Amino acid sequence: MKKSNLPVAIIGGGPVGLAAAAHLSKNNQSFIIFEAAKTVGANILTWGHVKVFSPWEYNIDKIAESLLVKNGIKIPIKKEVPFGKQLVNEYLKPLSEITEIKQNLHLKTKVLSIGRKGLDKMKNANRENLPFSIQVNENGNFNIYEAKAIIDASGTWQNPNPVGSGGVFAIGEKENSNHFFYGMPDVNGKLIDKYANKSVLVVGGGHSAIGTVLALSEVQEKYPKTQIHWLLRKKNVSDVYGGQEADGFKSRGELGIRIEKLVNSGNIEIHTPVFIHQFDKFKDSLTVKGITNNQEFVLENIDEVISNTGTRPDFSFLREIRFDADASVESVPELAELIDPNIHSCGTVRPHGEAVLRQREKDFYIVGMKSYGRAPTFLMATGYEQIRSIVAYMNGDFEAAKDVRLELPETGVCNSGIGGGGDSCCGGNGCDVPATNEDEDTSCDTACGTEEKVKETQSSCCSTTLITDNSSCC
Ligand SMILES: Cc1cc2nc3c(=O)[nH]c(=O)nc-3n(C[C@H](O)[C@H](O)[C@H](O)COP(=O)(O)OP(=O)(O)OC[C@H]3O[C@@H](n4cnc5c(N)ncnc54)[C@H](O)[C@@H]3O)c2cc1C
Repeated sequence: MKKSNLPVAIIGGGPVGLAAAAHLSKNNQSFIIFEAAKTVGANILTWGHVKVFSPWEYNIDKIAESLLVKNGIKIPIKKEVPFGKQLVNEYLKPLSEITEIKQNLHLKTKVLSIGRKGLDKMKNANRENLPFSIQVNENGNFNIYEAKAIIDASGTWQNPNPVGSGGVFAIGEKENSNHFFYGMPDVNGKLIDKYANKSVLVVGGGHSAIGTVLALSEVQEKYPKTQIHWLLRKKNVSDVYGGQEADGFKSRGELGIRIEKLVNSGNIEIHTPVFIHQFDKFKDSLTVKGITNNQEFVLENIDEVISNTGTRPDFSFLREIRFDADASVESVPELAELIDPNIHSCGTVRPHGEAVLRQREKDFYIVGMKSYGRAPTFLMATGYEQIRSIVAYMNGDFEAAKDVRLELPETGVCNSGIGGGGDSCCGGNGCDVPATNEDEDTSCDTACGTEEKVKETQSSCCSTTLITDNSSCC
């Protein structure tokens, strides 16, 4: 088949991958979408019991919405804030069942590798004119598909960072994996028996950690012998309280208010700043070892560890693709300095689209959560704008592709010291995703704190009119 007649291949059936399907469908571009799990929104379903902080109006892509409306599907009330499972059941699943999308959706299909047909990464000859060749494991069968372009929206949630503070597994972490949960377990629901009356350690300083600690406190109310230990690399736990009343996303602000109350209640034990390097098994429990303020840290009798230390992209299936990722953030290169917690951009992530996301491998794009690499600050609305611009470009509408815009509410966090940095104005914690290890070490002063940066970011997180993408946590 002629390359131009081939479909665009989308990797991942999360909100951004499905938005891509909706936009391509609307523009009469043929596409094929691969989702590794048996359902769309699979990563979100792992935290389906968690309420997100952005209301529906920021969670539904505009073109997807028009498709839903056209097909007589009810749109959720815009001002309400859904749980993760509602995002999937009331938005992503209905969208995926619309005929135009359903007929091109391959569930239980994991992409194993992508390359140019018959050409390895080193070869130039006629490269751009060759189709992409995609190897998949489709329900146990190995198949090859061809595509004219690739949109990689495979997320990062399925690749959690290890607990070890150096970004590698701590000694004893893998060996005792039955004591570890990476992500946000349903501690007060399906998994209550695992956590009730146990000594539980939560590691991390982002909103996922906060959500987990708060949920554990509800378990503790019912089962008073439950002990909650919260370990952070930040200097002060108060650094995670965030914008609270000033946060434009009310749900996110409330998390900060509730966690401050809980910390002040004395019902949980806070360990900060701690850098973990080892877990030893003793009888049925774990001893945690690390460093705190240049001294040895030891915490005994931990039954369960819940890790909320961030996630990272999986590049393994892109081995034969010529793509670039930032050396530290692992994001699309041009986004890095805007979302790198070391720089503390305070929300200066400009609305961006095709031009920023363009890779040296022609017609190949990394989008969505994965485009942010290890930065924990991605919002769905950001991804929808990425997709709108890329599909406009594919459609030959270069003006529309260039005209990127995104309107998100202010969150007020910069003024109140939210932050991944432990002392940062924004850090990684303005979002409802776990902080990265890196983000816990960085300082506010490097960004919002300096005059130069303040000037640069006035129109975003640190001040008023937010036309930039404040998904970068602020
Ligand atoms: C706890 C939590 C709360 C959040 N709250 C908000 C919020 O309030 N508002 C907001 O805007 N954002 C929020 N986010 C951030 C973000 O918007 C979501 O994580 C969103 O799901 C990212 O969408 P995505 O499509 O990029 O990736 P994902 O939703 O992660 O989807 C990726 C999909 O790709 C599939 N996949 C992976 N690898 C392969 C492969 N090799 N082959 C085929 N398929 C593959 C996965 O199974 C998955 O279904 C939150 C995130 C978390 C973790």
